Amino acid sequence: MDLGLRDRVAVVTGGSSGIGLATVELLLDEGARVALCARDAARLEREEARLRAAHGDRVLAQRCDVLDEAQLVAFRDAVLQHFGGVDLLINNAGQARVSSFANTSDDDWEAELRLKFFSVVRPTRLFLPALQKSAIASIVCVNSLLAKQPEAHMVATSAARAGAHNLAKSLSVEFAPRIRVNSILLGLVDSGQWQRRYEQNAKPGQSKAEYLGEIAAQRRIPLGRVGVPREPAAAIAFLASPLASYITGAALEVSGGVSRYA
Ligand code: NDP
Repeated sequence: MDLGLRDRVAVVTGGSSGIGLATVELLLDEGARVALCARDAARLEREEARLRAAHGDRVLAQRCDVLDEAQLVAFRDAVLQHFGGVDLLINNAGQARVSSFANTSDDDWEAELRLKFFSVVRPTRLFLPALQKSAIASIVCVNSLLAKQPEAHMVATSAARAGAHNLAKSLSVEFAPRIRVNSILLGLVDSGQWQRRYEQNAKPGQSKAEYLGEIAAQRRIPLGRVGVPREPAAAIAFLASPLASYITGAALEVSGGVSRYA
């Protein structure tokens, strides 16, 4: 199926690992031109070199913390200079915070709320004028099932995710009909985050597959396993593409069916 993205320009925040990187690769395979950013320059350069070897100057990578206004402005300017416009913005950068109410300080709350809101607010605001010039403009926000189904051991992330979910809906109304805004709600997807959790929490000698299998069983994921990055990437690419031209303000669950609400 042709997603209609050939020569279109996509920006993927947090594109150097996991779901963001899988999205970058899928969009490039669809013929799009793709800009990605992340904070860790070494990893970003490694991925940029690999992607450029396959896709040439359809790839632009620049170090940028999405919470840093000056770095974001420089990234936006580089994207516009290199590609001349922007059609799609994928707000993906971020990570979760594992903490309960008892062990979440005010500083932790502020950091979490800042990350979850401003990783959407700032890139959206800065890329908005360019998106407004595109005939197929769309934004996809990568969110979590926690937005609708909070977990007490991730109290700040859950509350922040609920707010970001609400924000995406408001944006979809304010930006219509020019720009579509949708979200995906993730369950558990094997990415950099889960690699770090495996390294910290696995039993001695336990393989990654065994560790993730145990988690899938404990969480009773109906599809019986944790997801892989190309699965949410496919949902992101679809929602971002003109194939989803009548979808805005939607939140698509990509979770192996693990939600408990109807
Ligand atoms: P990864 O750790 O594999 O990837 C996260 C990416 O975001 C990296 O490229 C990282 O690079 C980048 N990043 C993080 N913070 C910033 C920042 N402030 N500015 C710019 N880039 C940043 O994790 P995932 O692929 O799992 O995460 C993608 C998104 O999915 C995140 O928002 C995450 O919270 C969300 N999510 C993931 C779930 C899962 O099960 N995997 C579940 C629910 C939500 P660097 O560190 O170099 O900046």
